[in-house]
Amino acid sequence: MKNIKRAVHIDFHTMPGIENFGENWNAEVFAQTLKDANVEYINAFAQCNIGFSYYPTKIGIKYPTMKGDMFGSLLSACHKHGIVVTAYINVGLNHEAARRHADWLRVDKDGRIIRGDRSANFFRTMCYNTDYREYLLKIIEEICSYDVDGIFCDCMCLEPCYCDRCTSDMKNQGIDIEDGKAVLDFAYRVMLSISEDIRKIVPKDKYLFLNGMPFYDVRNYNSHIEIECLPSGGWGYDYFGAKAAYARNINKNVLYMTGRFQSSWGDFGGYKTKASIENDFFDALCNNVGVSLGDHMHPANNLIADIYSDLRDIYKIIKTYEPWTDGCNYISEIGVLTDSGGVLSKSYMGLSRMLSELKYSFDIIHKDMDFDRFSVLILPDDMRVDNELANKLKNYLSMGKKIISSGFSGLNIEETDFALSEWDFKYKGKDSSNSPYFHFTNTPPNIADMDWAIYKPGIRMEKSDTNTVLADYIVPYFDRKWDGLHGYFYTPPKCKNKESVILINSQKNVAHVSFRIFDAYYENAMYAHKIIIDELIKLFLPNPLIRAENMPSTSRITLTGKKDYYLLHVKVTYPEPRGKFDIVEEHNILPEGKTIYIRGNFNKVLRLPDKTIMESYTENGYTVIKLPQINGYGMFCLCNK
Ligand SMILES: [Zn+2]
Repeated sequence: MKNIKRAVHIDFHTMPGIENFGENWNAEVFAQTLKDANVEYINAFAQCNIGFSYYPTKIGIKYPTMKGDMFGSLLSACHKHGIVVTAYINVGLNHEAARRHADWLRVDKDGRIIRGDRSANFFRTMCYNTDYREYLLKIIEEICSYDVDGIFCDCMCLEPCYCDRCTSDMKNQGIDIEDGKAVLDFAYRVMLSISEDIRKIVPKDKYLFLNGMPFYDVRNYNSHIEIECLPSGGWGYDYFGAKAAYARNINKNVLYMTGRFQSSWGDFGGYKTKASIENDFFDALCNNVGVSLGDHMHPANNLIADIYSDLRDIYKIIKTYEPWTDGCNYISEIGVLTDSGGVLSKSYMGLSRMLSELKYSFDIIHKDMDFDRFSVLILPDDMRVDNELANKLKNYLSMGKKIISSGFSGLNIEETDFALSEWDFKYKGKDSSNSPYFHFTNTPPNIADMDWAIYKPGIRMEKSDTNTVLADYIVPYFDRKWDGLHGYFYTPPKCKNKESVILINSQKNVAHVSFRIFDAYYENAMYAHKIIIDELIKLFLPNPLIRAENMPSTSRITLTGKKDYYLLHVKVTYPEPRGKFDIVEEHNILPEGKTIYIRGNFNKVLRLPDKTIMESYTENGYTVIKLPQINGYGMFCLCNK
């Protein structure tokens, strides 16, 4: 299917009581506004999370004061302008159906169907194991009878359900309803089965995205992936990078769906500045994914002209890059393994931040995927190794490649020892101390010679005779605890014992850091922790793809490309914490004259889109590029033509 470009996701959830609903709205103005803003694709409201339909439905509940067919008219107006329209339906929330059918709701362990903040959205959610299932599928069928280009299913959030049918089914299947994990697994299987049923209804040549379902697990149902992330509105600026690194390995058609809001969805009066949207789209370009802007339309008015005027400028620039970016791949040499179906822990967000600051190119892949193309693999923090993975890793190492693991990674599933003899370190069990330290055996440059905090303990280990020790374990005087007389808050480092914190194996192809260093970096972002990983990667990857030693750690440098050329992405804008928010108000400017080294010999470097020739030369297998002044973001083409 055609890759989605320059999208807008239009939220439109309307409470009852808008007496002048649609009064000033006009389908033609709506479509023309999008067309003028260079928009090619929209998610548009067929049915909202209140449960109202915006077309004259025979099955669902039409918005009471809607006249005519709002969805139908916007669909034909958009199609007239060549804009692709995917119909939005909220499948996890449907408050109007819920009011009429209390037996269609998820029931929590205490028997409640309504819980939490009633002034928000998620205080009651639908159970797909009730008659709601047939109702929902019929509505999707009804929407598909329009000439839609696809279906966007929202709010597929996992929660346990103890409703009568779920409980009966679990009992019939021998599931212990006191086992919280088993109950959640059952609820997840129900969600996978409704996902399959929805895919059967939506024709194969139409787009389908199941928002909330883990990308990898539903890879055969999703036509593409939309990474929903309002970075300043709760998701944070570390969420997107890790998700994109995983998503682009699952599907070739991935979008970064950010939003125009200052806070979060439903923020009618919030607009976070043009530069802030550009910042997010620069991140999308750096990660080789497409762009989408989330908006919320007023129930009586047209789209806000000034916002779409800004978007027109932004999408005009994105469009000028497309002749180069279309069909590119992300170029990486470090593979990061996960066993998750799609949800990535804080460790992956910490890792993504750390490697991005260091300018190492990486992809996150499922352990079942092929990883032979990477020069180095990282098993972050909690990546325990089953027999199948052990065989793959053994084979990978036998090809002369290298592995870095941390925390519990590398251990067998039972956590009795390391899974492979290549990890020839002595495993001493879980680290039960809550205040341990480490000390470098040779302190790296620009690092203080001191005992450094571990923050996120993992395992205890000792070296074998043939191992190389890079850091020793330092025990504290006390752990943080209450002993009945004192609360031990002050727990200084005491002395080293015979254990190690960073070890390299005898074959010099596996390094292990004993603590959960990537989780620690997400929580604490300590420079000394980043340097550990930098030193290990330098050891295993002495000639990395990108070398940018004199660029600021706040900048992002990545490579995408195809057979004939590389695209170098240099992003220098970054957010500042202001109050409770991380804010981008204008772009940062990189002064002229910084140099970047890209592995490979290229005889021409062009700044895009104007094709200005940049000063460059080759040296020791690298192309050295002298950068011009960069305002926010720059894209450069490296080629031999
Ligand atoms: Zn249920």
